[in-house]
Amino acid sequence: MVPGETVLMGPPGSGKGTQARLLADAHGWVQLATGDLFRDHQRRGTALGRLAGERMAKGAYVPDEITVGMVRERLAEIPPGTRVVFDGFPRTVPQAKALDGLLAECGRHLHRVVLFEVAGDPLLDRLAGRVTCASCQAVYAARVRPPRVAGVCDRCGGALASSARPDDSPEVVLKRLDVYEEQTRPVIAHYEATGLLRRIDGVGPVDEVTERVREALS
Ligand code: ADP
Ligand code: ZN
Repeated sequence: MVPGETVLMGPPGSGKGTQARLLADAHGWVQLATGDLFRDHQRRGTALGRLAGERMAKGAYVPDEITVGMVRERLAEIPPGTRVVFDGFPRTVPQAKALDGLLAECGRHLHRVVLFEVAGDPLLDRLAGRVTCASCQAVYAARVRPPRVAGVCDRCGGALASSARPDDSPEVVLKRLDVYEEQTRPVIAHYEATGLLRRIDGVGPVDEVTERVREALS
């Protein structure tokens, strides 16, 4: 069994969210996805949700202090024996440094950082036509990962909402990719220096990528 926590990193649309959910389902881990937590705050209409909504709509990051505070709160709710897979956090070097402290506070430590590498345009293809299951939140993409039956979730049979996320418009996607290069690329070097980083090819069928993740964690 994996002796510590896992971080999945990669540009928007690299498939890390899908793999984080599969890991959580397969092993009984908790998926801690900061993007999902922000969208949840938005739905509940909290002050944090309003601020995050403004940033997300522009493709910009939410300030580090706010993001780290939210992660601290969420971590405090997770039973000590339950493994956590971080999805979309840390995204900046200050967040990566803060994570060590956050984990130490609850008696945890980082085991591995898996970087999903996907070159250039496939990301735009993946993000285009993204649909989500209203019941289980599974994500499908028209071109690269269509559901077996149009409009129906493979996993649970739920209805697929055809609306992409508001930040999946082409202009905002390009901006998100730029922000990733500028603010998240340096996090890779940070983790390379710690020896925790493993790179995997994020391109290919979901189950093949799952197998690469499994190898990267062993
Ligand atoms: P993706 O990985 O496809 O960009 P996410 O759902 O992970 O999607 O993130 C959506 C948005 O939420 C980001 O563009 C950003 O505005 C915000 N966000 C998510 N995680 C973080 C983070 N760790 N730090 C700052 N902002 C974040
Ligand atoms: Zn579903």
